Amino acid sequence: MTEALWDWHDANGFTRVINVSGTMTGLGASVTGSAARKATAEAMGHFVKMHELQEHAGQVISRLTGAEAGCVTASASAGISLCVAGCMTGLNPSRAEALPAVPGSRDTVVAQAGHLCHYGAPVETAVGLTGGKLRVIGQSTQCADHQLEGALDENVAAALYVVSHHVVHYGQIPFARFVEIAHRAGVPVIVDAASEYDLTGFIEQGADLAIYSGHKFLSGPTSGIIAGRRDLVRAAYLQNIGIGRGMKVGKESIMGLIAAMEDWMTRDAAAIRAAERAALEEWQAAVADLPGITARVVPDPTNNPLDRLQIEIDPQEAGANAAIFAAVLGRQDPAIIVRDHEVELGYFQLDPCNLLPGQQVLVADTLRHVLGSGGDVLDHAEADPRNGSIRAYLDWGQG
Ligand SMILES: *Cc1c(COP(=O)(O)O)cnc(C)c1O
Repeated sequence: MTEALWDWHDANGFTRVINVSGTMTGLGASVTGSAARKATAEAMGHFVKMHELQEHAGQVISRLTGAEAGCVTASASAGISLCVAGCMTGLNPSRAEALPAVPGSRDTVVAQAGHLCHYGAPVETAVGLTGGKLRVIGQSTQCADHQLEGALDENVAAALYVVSHHVVHYGQIPFARFVEIAHRAGVPVIVDAASEYDLTGFIEQGADLAIYSGHKFLSGPTSGIIAGRRDLVRAAYLQNIGIGRGMKVGKESIMGLIAAMEDWMTRDAAAIRAAERAALEEWQAAVADLPGITARVVPDPTNNPLDRLQIEIDPQEAGANAAIFAAVLGRQDPAIIVRDHEVELGYFQLDPCNLLPGQQVLVADTLRHVLGSGGDVLDHAEADPRNGSIRAYLDWGQG
């Protein structure tokens, strides 16, 4: 079992990695099921009329989301750019070709300050690629209805709402209210729900365009989903003649995503939840008696049906702080990559949703070994994830 688990890494000389951090681009996002892999490989052997393939994908997206129409993009991030551009140009091909030259009217996107997160790149960049202007309303921790109402003038092409564990979770305009205010002013609402399991709720509550990632919980190949009003989905799709060209999605990703969406609609959610629960309980038991370590099961902050194990660390008792332990876990063989974005608060989390067969026990053993070791000789600066991802980019490619 263990050998088969690492054959691919070993043959290529790659670091053995166990992903208990969630669906992270930096780790290859997700592992696809056999149906999606087969569909992807099969598609590579054929020519196909891409419009026909996208039409077919759109029908599956409609079944999945309840939306009128849909299409597949290269990623959710591309989906944001294409949706914003579509709201700016409508079905006018000259305007679509002219982007990112600012059209001069209907070129503005409104978003709450507390929603401008960094999902690997800033939300602002995905909007800015279109040439559109972002009009930020409210402050980081509060936004009132009048601030949205006051921002919606004739230049506004769309209002953007971001759902993520990375956004501020209090003081923001609730989604239904956001839609109500935008619609009263005749402005369409785009929701970036890239990482949300709820594929129908935002459309149900009036989103004009909803964006999902194909390679997060859906476990498809690298891709994104746009679902929503037919006229706006068509306008977003039209952007493939302009700024969308560099975000092209291939036939293999579309076919793989279709298979992943079909899998999702027939999955045994209760069995998946139970398996995830068992992993959390095994890990919790593995560290239960270690000094300075408290492990508790916590729910997902955006209400996805997913729990995680939160490992809280008392540095005096345990010998090092949470940042250092997270970094040390990431240097083991196999590397255990934990969820560390709130590590300065004294904890990291273990996400069970991307666990592969045979890995659960390796995580338990490594966790017990590292957390019981009293810490490592790693200074805190080296363990700071705020700067770590940029350092990794700057270190890359030096030969
Ligand atoms: C992950 C994520 C994205 C980007 O998704 P990709 O499909 O990887 O481009 C955008 N927005 C939010 C809120 C995300 O969580």
